[in-house]
Amino acid sequence: MKRKFQRIKKLNLHKQTLQYMMTEVNGVMTYTQTEENQQIPKLLFTDYLKGKGKENIAKIKCERNVYKCIKESPLVKLMMGALKASGCAVDIRRHIACEECAPTVSGGYDPILNQVIICHNTTTKEGIVQGVLTHEMIHMFDYCQNHLDFKNIDHLACTEVRAANLAHCSFISAWINGDASPINIKEAHQNCVKSKALSSVLAARNVTKLEAIDAIERVFPKCYPDLEPIGRRIRRNSADMYKAYKEGFYYGYDDS
Ligand SMILES: [Zn+2]
Repeated sequence: MKRKFQRIKKLNLHKQTLQYMMTEVNGVMTYTQTEENQQIPKLLFTDYLKGKGKENIAKIKCERNVYKCIKESPLVKLMMGALKASGCAVDIRRHIACEECAPTVSGGYDPILNQVIICHNTTTKEGIVQGVLTHEMIHMFDYCQNHLDFKNIDHLACTEVRAANLAHCSFISAWINGDASPINIKEAHQNCVKSKALSSVLAARNVTKLEAIDAIERVFPKCYPDLEPIGRRIRRNSADMYKAYKEGFYYGYDDS
């Protein structure tokens, strides 16, 4: 894992490296081996035929996106600071991994390894990586700070409501802003949180839809207003994202 992230730093420092990574030598596709990218695995043309090279490139791209979000995204930086302040500092080499997943999955959180997974085959855009990272980091925060028990369906429902609220539906509320009255927005936002949380609970647990809905309704009054550690719902492309990051300082979160 350590070597992997050293490689990302190098790719970031030497942006042109990616363009020259793949070369053809005597009809065989291979990676250029320079001083800068010694650690990039050498792949033969047959590897590309098997799709191995594609997977490797997707993984490297994903790791670059993760690294960029951690360095630049105010939301992700705020979550990193909040996790650190809660005694759950994130070591990106150990606690975040890009992996291939089922086609319907975008990411996940593994409480046993305390590891956030970003699916490099489905989560390819930087903006989506930011959303998935924030979502999974909210689970990480709840697991660490709120002693979340993933086996307890109410706990799971609560953290999914919080993640949907803080990372996902805030964006939706901005999209529908134009053609909805304030009352409708409030209702639409709550419905967005409930339906997003429902699909997350159903994906994570083998429970019936009715059991999942019951759990979400039970925890909703308590978990929907709980905006820790972001402090406010974030609206897409608004100053809120930056405000939340700036205010993180007042809540005792520090990303340094
Ligand atoms: Zn989730």
